[in-house]
Amino acid sequence: MLDIVFIVIYYINMLRTMSIPTDLAPSQFLPLMKTCSQIFNEHVKWSMENKTYNKGRAHKSLYADLRSRYPEVPSALIQSVRDTAMEAVRAQKFKRAPRKSEYGALRYDARTMSLRGERLTLSCIGKRGKTILKVPEYFREIFDNWTLKGAAVVWKKRDGRIWVHMVFETDTPRKTEGGVAGIDRGLRHLAVTSDGQFYSGSRIRANQRKYLHNRRTLQAKGTPSARRRLKAMSGREKRFSQDVNHRISKGIAQTPETATFVLEDLSGIRAKRRGKRLNKWLGSWPFYQLQMFLQYKAEKLGKEVAFVDARYTSQRCSRCGHIYKGNRKGGAFCCVRCGYTDHADLNAAKNIRDLYILSTARENGSVEQAAVNQPYATDFGLVASHQACPGGS
Ligand SMILES: [Zn+2]
Repeated sequence: MLDIVFIVIYYINMLRTMSIPTDLAPSQFLPLMKTCSQIFNEHVKWSMENKTYNKGRAHKSLYADLRSRYPEVPSALIQSVRDTAMEAVRAQKFKRAPRKSEYGALRYDARTMSLRGERLTLSCIGKRGKTILKVPEYFREIFDNWTLKGAAVVWKKRDGRIWVHMVFETDTPRKTEGGVAGIDRGLRHLAVTSDGQFYSGSRIRANQRKYLHNRRTLQAKGTPSARRRLKAMSGREKRFSQDVNHRISKGIAQTPETATFVLEDLSGIRAKRRGKRLNKWLGSWPFYQLQMFLQYKAEKLGKEVAFVDARYTSQRCSRCGHIYKGNRKGGAFCCVRCGYTDHADLNAAKNIRDLYILSTARENGSVEQAAVNQPYATDFGLVASHQACPGGS
């Protein structure tokens, strides 16, 4: 039996998106968007009817007909619309037919656009759209050094302009060599690393409670002076959390022997399993800010932050892999199968680290190497010795 349900890894510091308005004429792109939306919806209809999102089959069935009906649309764009449609159906798993609105976004790739310096050229109906991009200063370094992966062209009704969202990728994701650390995040501790660093969250949370109380009192008053004090207070609260987050993220990022920091991806279904109080805390902005600070500081040091979508990290034994709710008793972890004991958050952090190592080892085909680095990471179900858990049943 395999204990890990599924794992997804994102390297979010490898991709960056830049969104900027352009001077491209909407009158040139709107007709193309409209036609491409029709082509998209036709693909979806075909896909739902034939219960497949296979791009090759879609091409065989639809391409020639579409090409003759829409001769003005460049063939590479038809293909890119087909890819988008098939991926959209696949994401919905046939449960619902994805639809593109009349002037939905257009996806561009190497087949349909080119970038020379700041000059962007896009396939369109008739003559190609050309524009000089106004690259924001903060994006300059990425724009000059990273590779353009793809782009979406969007018409924003609000300002009536054509925007481009460009995705850049770095060729050198990792500059620093080093080990992997898992980081568990929770209510008692803002962060616990698998190498044993504990960062308490009690100060931020106590501070939040204090401000919440004062805020309610002042809001109830509602006088002009109360409003002024409310505003000043919210500034103080933000600065306090920011300060704590800066210190913690700096401490973690600078861990000398670590080059990869692994966090749980807390979005999606699995976050719902962790209780109301914890979810509220995980959704709070100081918490998100810590993650952003860590990414930023790690990146500056040539390190990376990775995410694993891993369930049961708090119930799983980091030594033998046994998953059982009763393994955890409050702040203590004690495996009912192998008797391993640890601090509960530390055990979770080790699980996060090992899930990442295991999944990258599978990708690189070197489970043996991972096994050498983390002798227990691959050891699912092999440890059979039973020891009594102190205080356990
Ligand atoms: Zn165990």
